[in-house]
Amino acid sequence: MGKPVVIFREVNCCVSCFAKPVLLLLLAFLYLPVARANPSSMNVMLFQSRPRIDSVFVRAPFMIVNPIRSVFKEGLYECTDAGNSVRLRKAGGRNQKEIIRAPYLVLSGRGGNTIEIGPDSAHMRKYYGQMNMRRANAKGKNSAGLEVLNQVDTFNYVASVVGGETTPVFGKEALKAQAVLVYTRLSPKGRHPTVTDTTDEMVYLGEQHERPEVIDAVHEIDRRRLMFQDRPAQAFFHACCAGRTSKGSDIFGENARSMTYLQSVSCNHCKGSPLYGTTVKEIPTSVFAREIADREPRVLKLDRANRPVSAEIQKGARKEVLSGYQLWLRIGQKLGWDKAPGTRYQVKQTAGGYTIRSSGGGHGVGLCQWGAQGLSKQKKTYVEILQYYFPGTTVEQRQ
Ligand SMILES: [Zn+2]
Repeated sequence: MGKPVVIFREVNCCVSCFAKPVLLLLLAFLYLPVARANPSSMNVMLFQSRPRIDSVFVRAPFMIVNPIRSVFKEGLYECTDAGNSVRLRKAGGRNQKEIIRAPYLVLSGRGGNTIEIGPDSAHMRKYYGQMNMRRANAKGKNSAGLEVLNQVDTFNYVASVVGGETTPVFGKEALKAQAVLVYTRLSPKGRHPTVTDTTDEMVYLGEQHERPEVIDAVHEIDRRRLMFQDRPAQAFFHACCAGRTSKGSDIFGENARSMTYLQSVSCNHCKGSPLYGTTVKEIPTSVFAREIADREPRVLKLDRANRPVSAEIQKGARKEVLSGYQLWLRIGQKLGWDKAPGTRYQVKQTAGGYTIRSSGGGHGVGLCQWGAQGLSKQKKTYVEILQYYFPGTTVEQRQ
């Protein structure tokens, strides 16, 4: 029972990045024999969407807190991988004098403030907590270069993720529902987990998403989680279901069958989403043949929400049966995620190529984020919103 078992890959469908290739490894429900507490702090590996980071820029004011203590009041600095050590110098060319070279550097903002850092001077972001910089572990995703680990309080991490998953038009109860789901996802990860800042886990872009109303919502939630039979639920969410969500097992397969709270529910509350309508994209025959199949995929089964459950494709002599979700991932990865933003999609062969129609955004399982916003406008509470999309669950009560 002890080890995590990966049962499926999820596309993390948020509002701001509704259908990026995502491959969030989820822990099987088997991994949750007991309801664990949430982490108290997070270690987030920053800039993981880049293949390799050789240097990062840091804008003063900031402090080095380890292995020496030193305060930097103004200017832009560059921290570089220097073989087995990390080097800090003023930004602005190779001739700048080295300030410190050490096996690792720990930086922070001054007086509990944020620290501004970025992989280049055009992409600077502010983060709470400390930055631990060292040479990347060869096992890491960034196989060499610098590793930038942001040690941050869980509250700030959750507020940033919730802010990034929503937009400023979202109401308080929709924000609170999202916050519960983020805390629920963190719950199996232990006390001080290390995660990435990409859609592999949850997108974390630092302080910029911590809007005041998001901070209030996360405070009010006070680490509550979504529970099913005394265990944390699998907290799926997607941007917009465009009419009806899908049963977990129809999208993710047999492993999700026991998650009976991942039901298909009707939802006409997400009409405010820019993804509600149908997206139509044309793909040239040659491109489709090279990347996906020689002919129109044959859908073998549709679910109640009209999302493909399984489909057969043929490429050369090879026939392959995929789940509708697997084919959707392949279309996204090979042709681009804008081609079918939602898993309710259809591919038709035409005279000039292939037409892909899709509605909604994301996988369609669990909470519909724009639907939550619609329900929030109807004065539903976050508990009512969550129980609407996850029937049979409860929201943890704190003492
Ligand atoms: Zn919806």
